[in-house]
Parts: sequence; C-alpha cells; structure tokens
Amino acid sequence: MVSELIDELESLEQEARDLVARAESVDELEAARIRLLGRKEGRLTAVMKRLGELSPEERPRAGAVSNRVKNLIASLLEEREAALKEATAAGPQIDLTLPARRQWRGARHPVGQVVDEICDILKGLGFSRVRGPEVETDWYNFTALNTPLDHPAADMHDTFYLAPGVLLRSHTSPVQIRTMQAFKPPIRVVIPGMVYRRDPFDASHAPGFEQIEGLAVDEGITFVDLKATLAEFARRFFGAQANVRFRPSFFPFTEPSAEVDVSCMICKAAGCSACKGTGWIEIMGAGMVHPRLFDNVGYDREKYTGFAFGMGPARIAMLRYGIPDIRLLYDSDVRFLQQFS
Ligand SMILES: [Zn+2]
Repeated sequence: MVSELIDELESLEQEARDLVARAESVDELEAARIRLLGRKEGRLTAVMKRLGELSPEERPRAGAVSNRVKNLIASLLEEREAALKEATAAGPQIDLTLPARRQWRGARHPVGQVVDEICDILKGLGFSRVRGPEVETDWYNFTALNTPLDHPAADMHDTFYLAPGVLLRSHTSPVQIRTMQAFKPPIRVVIPGMVYRRDPFDASHAPGFEQIEGLAVDEGITFVDLKATLAEFARRFFGAQANVRFRPSFFPFTEPSAEVDVSCMICKAAGCSACKGTGWIEIMGAGMVHPRLFDNVGYDREKYTGFAFGMGPARIAMLRYGIPDIRLLYDSDVRFLQQFS
C-alpha cells in the first residue's frame, strides 16, 4: 500500500515537470496548477487524501514524500511563472542576432539614366521623343539617308543582315526618315534606341549599343540654330561652364557636317588623360540635313531646311562616371549597377 502510493507520487513528480515545462503562457500554467494541486480534482490532492488510509507506521514515510513533491511542484510553478513573465516583458520572441534579410532595390541602368536626362533637356528645348523599329530595310538605313549601298560610307557600318535587304539598323537615323514621312514640318524630335554594328566586343566597342539623335526641320532653320541648340544642350548637360567646338567632318546625310567637341569637364579644359591633353572631348556628330533626304520623303527642299545631331549615351555615361571598359555596361553585374541607384 505505501510503496504503491510512493510510486504514484514519483510518477506524479515526473508528470508535473513535463506539464509545467510545456506551459507557454500564464493561463496554461494556471491550468497546470489546478490539474496538479487543485482542491477538488488536483492529482496531488487525490493522492494525499489516501494518506489517511495508511497505518500510523506507514504514514510518516509517505507524508514526507508527498510534502517533498508538493514543495517541488510549487517551486516549479513559481520558476516557470517568473520565466514566462520575463519573456512577455521582453516583447515578442525575436532573435535579434539573426542576419537581416537582404532588401534588393532596382535602379536605372547608367546608360538609361543618361538617355532620360538627354531627352528631358531636349524636351525643354521643344523636342518630342520618338522611337522606330530596330529591324529596318536597307532603303531606310542607307538609301533614303543619301548613302547608296555601294557608297564608301556603307562600309563604315559593317551591318548585320537578317535577309536580303533586311537588317538590324546600324544607326537611329532611319527614324528621321520615318518621322518626316509621317509628319509635315515643323519637326523637332529626339530619337533614342539600340543600334547594331559588326564591331568587336572590346573595351571601347560593342556590337549593340544605344544611340540618340535629334532632328529639327522648319522654314528658315540655319546652322546658327544648330550651334545654339547644341551649346545650350551642353551647358544644361555638362554644366554652365561647358563650351562647344565644331570641326568640319563628313556624313552622307548632312551637308555641311561637323564633329562636335565639348570642353573637358574632368580637367576644366586644362588637359588630362580623358581628353588626351587637348581640353576637348568629342561627343557627337551633327550637320544640316542634306536636301536629298527632303527629296526622299517628299519635302520641298527649296522651302525647308533642318539640322540633325547624334551621340552615344554609353560613351557619355563612361565619361561622366569614369567607367573604363564599355563591357561593364553589359555584364548585368549587380555590384557594378548598384553604384548608380
Ligand atoms: Zn581633360
């Protein structure tokens, strides 16, 4: 009889340890307390009631064990209650030592940023943004732009042909023709887009790259308008101190034609490695629209004149951000691109 009771008390001790340890809140702990020590249904209460059935000789031994278990349960409940209250005071269970989850934030590509900025400046000067197809016919890419297919200038664009007479455009200039066919003057458009040439992929060349050009056609447009527009553009893009310089050049679709230099923004025109010591950096080609382009789109060459200019946003981004190799712009390396967010 007594050993049975003592066994029961010992298994109750183990049960109490499990029950108290599992309590995750003060309420669960209170339920455990009632289950173990409750006056009516408590497990220990039930065992202790049976102490009276024992003989006077057996009673002290069983009484000592039941007192020990009772005290143990009381202290288990107390400890657990203190632990639960401390955890609640500390707030939700968050392990602040875990590494934070990475936040990925996208950014505009540096070339895209330059394109947007150029378009915004030209928008302020009255130019609308237009786009055209990247797959062109050789008529739009060469012939309409006063560049016959056997013309030496056609060699300058070593072109990707997709089919006889169909090619990846080698410049954005076909969009000049398409715009003039679609609209009557006055025209002021800025044309950004990808162009393709069979250039080797090296530090300063890529077989596909962004180009941006402008076209203005109206009655009475002169070279002065071209020069004033590009000088104003350079001041807004490169800074108030920027100067431009025109050097005679040749393009089949403009006459006269010029290469346009801007004063070196890196050395303030004093001469540095970026400008090869000259104080000037070549940024674009420009000129007055060749009258034959007007013939090709049905404009009256006696009535209208215009100017056009084109530049490479990748080259400008490289100059502005000091990017040494054009291939970095194509690698999609997040470590590189993140610097421009
Ligand atoms: Zn310089």
